Amino acid sequence: MNLLLFTAADRLGEQRIRVTDYRLRHLRQVLGSQAGDELRVGEVGGLTGSGCVEIIDDEQAILTLNLDQPPPPKLPLCLVLALPRPKMLRRVLRTVAELGVGELHLIHSYRVEKSYWQTPALHADSVQRYLLEGLEQCRDTVLPRVECHRRFKPFVEDLLPGLIEGGQALLAHPGDYPPCPRQQREQTLLAIGPEGGFIPYEVEKLVAAGCAPVSLGARILRVENALTALLGRLF
Ligand code: SAH
Repeated sequence: MNLLLFTAADRLGEQRIRVTDYRLRHLRQVLGSQAGDELRVGEVGGLTGSGCVEIIDDEQAILTLNLDQPPPPKLPLCLVLALPRPKMLRRVLRTVAELGVGELHLIHSYRVEKSYWQTPALHADSVQRYLLEGLEQCRDTVLPRVECHRRFKPFVEDLLPGLIEGGQALLAHPGDYPPCPRQQREQTLLAIGPEGGFIPYEVEKLVAAGCAPVSLGARILRVENALTALLGRLF
């Protein structure tokens, strides 16, 4: 945890917060925090700055705040991702928050098992928990927006064109396609397939909606690695 995140529920007033949960355990067990120590804090959706530990014991930590810095900017990216299996989803959500993705659309696709949509990892509070872990890692405070689309065709036909409008759209697809571009500044929509890849019909639909297929080369990467490699390359 490189940033202790808090919300209005933790506030004791303008300048003070009180934490009691996993954050208290982290302060005590990992950081060994003591009264007088300073650490990085941030308000979810707000500013970051420093927090000075006033009191810390078995039950609570009380910190005084000095919040004066905006969180780091997000990438100019809208990510469209075929829903991964639950274990991968958790990692992907952390990575999405950590790398600065502002908007994530999880979509269905032929090779996404229907049961994946039932996973507890997709419940709003779990999604938020994984995203917060990513934010705590990278010192951001702004939760990415996450939307789920359980039907491929209506998403691609009705929503995707609006998401692409005014920017470029790329479809990461292994094969003989142009290489993924580098150092992009413009608003970009990036679609990444499921572990089994998009089927030809889906590729056709995505291309018809305006996505240009791009490749990272001959190696087929796991979704989480493809995500990191693609974002590292693009921005
Ligand atoms: N089994 C599929 C690959 C799926 S990999 C196949 O053989 O085609 C999961 C997703 O990661 C892909 O849909 C793609 O979006 C992305 N990906 C993985 N490796 C890639 C590469 N070399 N180039 C572009 N995208 C890649």
